[in-house]
Amino acid sequence: MLEMLWWAQQSPMSQAPADATCARHRATDASIRIRQLEADVDRLLLINRALWELVRAQHGLEDSHLLEKVKELDLRDGRLDGKLTAHQIQRCQRCGRTLSRKHPRCIYCGGESFQRDAFETVR
Ligand SMILES: [Zn+2]
Repeated sequence: MLEMLWWAQQSPMSQAPADATCARHRATDASIRIRQLEADVDRLLLINRALWELVRAQHGLEDSHLLEKVKELDLRDGRLDGKLTAHQIQRCQRCGRTLSRKHPRCIYCGGESFQRDAFETVR
């Protein structure tokens, strides 16, 4: 009888409730994270709209100007897909190693990174 009890505790079935609890916690964490990201997107959309309305009013622009600019930026990576992607890997001109976007200089030799604009450090 004790042997059967030991076997039941070692079997994969005895692990099932713990696995289910762990899966429930991960699902809850993911759900919370999604809500936070949705709130971030909503806030960024609000800020972008406010910025656009300020710029449009102060410079006499139209929505068509914004749409043309969005299309131009979208096409910079060669694909009209509604997003900026395909950042090219930059190599240090001094040592040849891969440069990090988060560092203004090569972390190996101190060589200068040639970032194109302020957004290069964000992603
Ligand atoms: Zn380097």
